[in-house]
Amino acid sequence: MAGYVYDFIEGNKDLKDLLGGKGANLAEMTRMGLPVPPGFTITTDACREYLRTGTVPDGLFADVEDHLRLMQTRMGRTFGDPDDPLLLSVRSGAKFSMPGMMETILDIGLNDTSVAGLARQSADERFAWDSYRRLIQMFGRTVFDIPGEDFESELAQARVSAGVPTDAELGQGQLYDLVEAYKKVFHAHTGRDFPQAPHEQLFLAITAVFRSWNAERAVLYRRQERIPQDLGTAVNVMAMVFGNRGTDSGTGVAFTRDPATGRRGVYGDYLRNAQGEDVVAGIRNTVGLAELATIDPASYRRLLSIMERLEGRYRDLCDIEFTIENGKLWMLQTRVGKRTPAAAFVIAAQLVDEGTITLDEALRRVTGEQLAQLMFPSFDQDAAPAPLTIGVPASPGAAVGAIVFDSAAATAATGPVILVRRETNPDDLPGMIAAQGILTARGGKTSHAAVVARGMGKTCVCGAEELELGDDTLTVGGRTLRAGDVISIDGTNGRVYPGSVPVRPSEVVRYFEGELTAYGDPLLAAVERLMIHADHNARLGVHANADNGADAARARRFGATGVGLCRTEHMFLGDRRTLVERLILASGDAEREEALAALLPLQRADFEQLFAAMDGLPVTVRLIDPPLHEFLPPLEELTARVARAEALGEDPGHDGVLLAAVRRMHEQNPMLGLRGVRLGLVIPGLFAMQVRAIAEAAAARVAAGGDPRPEIMVPLVGAVQELQAVRAEAQAVLAEVAGAPPIRIGTMIEVPRAALTAGQIAGAAEFFSFGTNDLTQMTWGFSRDDVEGAFFGRYLGLGVFAVSPFETIDADGAGELVRIAVERGRAARPELTVGVCGEHGGDPASVRFFHTAGLDYVSCSPFRIPIARLEAGRAAI
Ligand code: PEP
Ligand code: MG
Repeated sequence: MAGYVYDFIEGNKDLKDLLGGKGANLAEMTRMGLPVPPGFTITTDACREYLRTGTVPDGLFADVEDHLRLMQTRMGRTFGDPDDPLLLSVRSGAKFSMPGMMETILDIGLNDTSVAGLARQSADERFAWDSYRRLIQMFGRTVFDIPGEDFESELAQARVSAGVPTDAELGQGQLYDLVEAYKKVFHAHTGRDFPQAPHEQLFLAITAVFRSWNAERAVLYRRQERIPQDLGTAVNVMAMVFGNRGTDSGTGVAFTRDPATGRRGVYGDYLRNAQGEDVVAGIRNTVGLAELATIDPASYRRLLSIMERLEGRYRDLCDIEFTIENGKLWMLQTRVGKRTPAAAFVIAAQLVDEGTITLDEALRRVTGEQLAQLMFPSFDQDAAPAPLTIGVPASPGAAVGAIVFDSAAATAATGPVILVRRETNPDDLPGMIAAQGILTARGGKTSHAAVVARGMGKTCVCGAEELELGDDTLTVGGRTLRAGDVISIDGTNGRVYPGSVPVRPSEVVRYFEGELTAYGDPLLAAVERLMIHADHNARLGVHANADNGADAARARRFGATGVGLCRTEHMFLGDRRTLVERLILASGDAEREEALAALLPLQRADFEQLFAAMDGLPVTVRLIDPPLHEFLPPLEELTARVARAEALGEDPGHDGVLLAAVRRMHEQNPMLGLRGVRLGLVIPGLFAMQVRAIAEAAAARVAAGGDPRPEIMVPLVGAVQELQAVRAEAQAVLAEVAGAPPIRIGTMIEVPRAALTAGQIAGAAEFFSFGTNDLTQMTWGFSRDDVEGAFFGRYLGLGVFAVSPFETIDADGAGELVRIAVERGRAARPELTVGVCGEHGGDPASVRFFHTAGLDYVSCSPFRIPIARLEAGRAAI
C-alpha cells in the first residue's frame, strides 16, 4: 500500500494538502540539502481514512516499517536496538498550522533495556533517564489521555525532594526514581504496564496523532480560525536529535524578521540543554537568539546562512525550530511565519523593495482583517499610570478588563476580562477566546499564549516574570490584585497597568484622517503604498453608509467615493421625534400636511450638509424605512405611565392619546409589516416630502456653486408595481422643483421576491442596492435582531454555517439571490448600477463575493472603508 508514506526526500513545499505544512516543509529543507534528521511523513489521506473507518488503513504499518528500515540505514542505528537505539519523534502536522493544538511524542523507542544502551552510548546517564521520563509522560498523556498534572505533580515532588528549582538540575538518580513513579502513574490510569516494544510504541503514537485531530480543543481552534474540519493531519516520524545533551546542546526558535514589527534582524529565543517543547511551552525562560553568537559561534553562523537561504526559497518571513546536539545544528521545522498585522504590511512592502515579490503579490499577502486590527485604538500613554510591570509584547493591541485566573471564569464572565495565567496551554483556549486580552508570567514570544493570541489577533503580554500568581491573587511590586480587579495590558510594548487606562485612536486611523503623514514611518508607508495599489486595481467602488455631513466627510477622508446609503429615519430622532409624533397622530389631511411641512426644512438642511460633504460624488438617499411606531414610546412604558396616572386619579393626557395610537399600530411582526415602500404607499405625502427635501437641497447646492449628485432609493420593494407607484409620485415632485440636477430613482433589493423578479423591477429602477441585512433575514427566516444570541452558538457548533450569515454573505442562499438579481436586472437594463449597502459591504470575505458577482460598488460604515478598499483591490488581482 505504497502511497500513504513519503520519505522527506520525496516531497516538497507544495504538497501541503497531502503532507501537511510541517511535512511539506521538512521535505523542502531536505531537498535543499539542509541538515534535517532523516524521516518520513504519513499522509493526510491515511488520517482521513482512519477517521472515516476507525481503523488504520491496510498496509500502512508495513509501509512504515519499510521506511523505517531506510532511516536505520541512513542513521546507522536500529530502532529497538538495546545497545544503541535509534529513537523517533512523532509529530502531527496539518495543512494549516494549529500551534499546540495537536500532539507530539518524543523519544519513541526507549524502554527499560535501551535506556541503559542510550546511557552508555551517550556516556550520559542523566540524559538517558531524562529522555525516558519525557517519553512516558508524553506518551501517557497523548496516547492514553492521562492528565498532565499527574505527571507534573510527580515532577514537582522530585524537585522538592532534591531541593532544586528546575528540572534541569535533577540528577540521574532522581530521574531514575521519577521514571519509576511515572510508570506507576501510567499503570494506575491504564491498568497495564508502559509498553516496552518499540514498534508498539510507534504504532500507538501514530494512531494517537490521527485521533488528536478530533480533540475538543483542536475542533474549537479550527472553528475559531475557520479551518475546515475534514482535512485530517499528516504524521511526521523523524530521527531524534537531542538538545538536552549538555551545555553544548540546546534548542531554539528563530525568525528571519521580527514577527511583531517586521524589522529586519535576528529574532528568536534559545534555551540551552533543553528539548523543543520546553521553549514552546514557555515553561523555562529563554535567552535572545543573538546570545547564541557567543554560546556557539559556528552554529550561529550556520543558522544565519540557512535562514537567508530559507527566506530566498519561501520569499517570505520564515520561522524555524532548530536543535543543536553536541555542537551540531539540526533543522526541525520551518514555515512561513505568523506575524502581527503591522509586520504583515511592513514585510510585504520590504519584500517589494528588495525585489523579491511584486506589488500584486504584496497586496495578496495582506488582508482586510489585518488592516481592521491596525485600526484598533491603543492606550493613551500620557494618561497611563506607572506600569505594574513590563512583560514581553507578544500580540499588539490595548485591552482593558477584570482579572480572571482561569479559562472557566473567562468564559463565564459577562463583562470584558483579562485572562491571567502562569503560562497557557491548549486547554486554556476557550478562555483565551472569551478574554479581551491574555497576560502570562512565563514564556517568550514563541510561547503558546503568544502564538495563539497573535493568530487570533488578540492582545497578549507574556513572560511578565515579576508577577507572582497565588490562588486567585496576583502580586507584583508589593501590590496584590484579586479576581475582578481591572487591569489594562498593552500588547505593543508589554506594559501592564492597574485600572482602566484611556485608549486613543490608532496611528493608521490618524493617517487616514489626514492627521499623520506616512513619511518616515515604515508601517504607514507600507499601508499607503498597498492602498494605492489596491485602489488602482479595484473594480468595485467603495461607498459609505453615512447619515450626516460629519460621517460623510470622514468617509471621504477614508477614501469613499460616494454615499451608498443614507438612512433618512436617523434624521427623525432626538428633538424631531415630536414632529414625527404629530405626523403619526394627525387626524386629517390638514394636520398631516402641517406636520410634514414642519419636517421638510429640517430634512432639507440635513441633505444640504450631506451633499456638501460628498460634493461631486453620488449620494444615495433612502426614503424612510422602519415602522413608524418605532418613533413612539414603547407599549409597555406607555401602559405603565397611563396606569399610574389613572391609579392616582389623574388624566393621562397626551400619554393616553399616544397609547391609543401605539395599540392601533401594534404589529406582531413589525419587520414584516408596515415599513419601507409600504409606508410611502399608505401615508399620503410622506415620501413626497422627502423627495422634495432632497430636490430642494440639491437645488440649493447648485445655486451655491456645488455639484450635488443625489439619488433616491426606495426600501423593501417586492413588486415592480410598488416601485412604479412611488416613482410616479416622486417624478411629479421632482418636476416641480426648479434648479435641481437630474436625480436617479432606484430601489433596494432586500426582499427575496424582488431578487427573483429583478428583471421586472429593473424596468422601474435605474439602480439596485442589495440590502443584505434584510435579504439574509428573509432568506433564512432568521430575525436579525434576535437570533445571534438565541441559537447561533449551537448552529456554529453543528456546522450549519461556519460564520454568522449576518456577518459574511451566505454565498449559496442570499448570495445566490444576489447573483440572480444582478443577472436578471442587467438583462432587462444593461446600464443598471448595482451595489450593496448591508453590513456585508464591509466584510472582507463578502467583498470578494460581490466582486465576483459583478457588482459596481460596496457600501459600508466609514471605519470599514479602508478595509473594503483593500479587499476590493485584492479581489481584482
Ligand atoms: C439592509 O437591509 O441590508 C439595509 C441596508 O437596510 P437596513 O439595515 O436599514 O434595514
Ligand atoms: Mg433593510
